[in-house]
Amino acid sequence: MATQRILDFLATRRPTGPCLVVDLDVVRDNFCAFEKALPDSKIYYAVKANPAPEILRLLAAMGSSFDTASVAEVEMAMDAGAPADRISFGNTIKKERDIARAYQLGIRLFAVDCVEEVEKIARVAPGSRVFCRVLTDGEGAEWPLSRKFGCVPAMAVDVLRHAKGLGLDAYGVSFHVGSQQTDLTAWDRALADAKVVFATLAEEGIVLKMVNMGGGFPTRYLRDVPAAQAYGQAIFSALRKHFGNALPETIIEPGRGMVGNAGVIKSEVVLISKKAANDNVRWVFLDIGKFGGLAETMDEAIRYPIVTAHDGTETAPCVLAGPTCDSADVMYEKTPYPLPLSLTIGDEVLIEGTGAYTTTYSAVAFNGFEPLRSYVI
Ligand SMILES: *Cc1c(COP(=O)(O)O)cnc(C)c1O
Repeated sequence: MATQRILDFLATRRPTGPCLVVDLDVVRDNFCAFEKALPDSKIYYAVKANPAPEILRLLAAMGSSFDTASVAEVEMAMDAGAPADRISFGNTIKKERDIARAYQLGIRLFAVDCVEEVEKIARVAPGSRVFCRVLTDGEGAEWPLSRKFGCVPAMAVDVLRHAKGLGLDAYGVSFHVGSQQTDLTAWDRALADAKVVFATLAEEGIVLKMVNMGGGFPTRYLRDVPAAQAYGQAIFSALRKHFGNALPETIIEPGRGMVGNAGVIKSEVVLISKKAANDNVRWVFLDIGKFGGLAETMDEAIRYPIVTAHDGTETAPCVLAGPTCDSADVMYEKTPYPLPLSLTIGDEVLIEGTGAYTTTYSAVAFNGFEPLRSYVI
């Protein structure tokens, strides 16, 4: 939602060109809601969702830990004030020299999903804690992350056993139920798999300590989503169901749920046209599209709320597209987007729920369009 602070900023500063404005008060509220919903879990903010230094500094000061995917992200978290023991290198795909560099910086917690990655870590980050990611089906998520990362639970057992054999600390299991996950039972299925890995290794005397329950916590776009509290309750009862009284340490890694609703993109209508005089679907071209930061409209996966000054008046379906000379730069066409008939060229629109996965996805200068500017207030 566009908060009053964001609206005031846009009204007084009148920034030109498309830009993202993030309200830190909303990020602060989100962090507190996660802490309250899952009081026994440590929060590792997924830096990739929005690495603006102001956001990282706020979260570091509030005691957050950080999930990073590269040496650059490790350094961003450290520059924001996070000590190395509050940073996890959570990417399962790392160059050995980057693992070595992270180890030099003090990082001791690494994700793996195969023995090949374990061997890299054993070579250059001896004694570190590793957790193995297991696959999930991504069912119920609007932006699934399943196939690329993780292995089946039976292989996770081998991976962690191998880690232990190489002198690493076989620390736990991780999963990600898919981003924008609105099915509260998704964690139950993944925790059942995690428990299998714990139990199998326990029989061999390898005692895992931690379950990293990933991200997936949603932001409200066009449809209501359950509150953090509902996720907390569902996850806690799933933990109890599978682990009984022997609850492991737990981590959550919210990205979208931490910053998505804190940001609004201001954009301008560049052109409204038709392809034939008798078409009833208009094409609305904005000054931002897939290459300017709205990459998550790919396959029309994420449908952002769009606010115009004409809301409440009669609408008609539109194809919504970006400004670049690439025909892939069309955001909503299969399911046209209803916009007011009175919308005109030059109008400003606000695209809500854009605090996560926008600035980092914007191209540097495709067609000469500059990367998405961002103001954190
Ligand atoms: C991207 C990512 C996250 C954040 O996911 P959200 O759905 O945005 O909360 C968390 N953990 C890992 C390992 C990730 O890759």
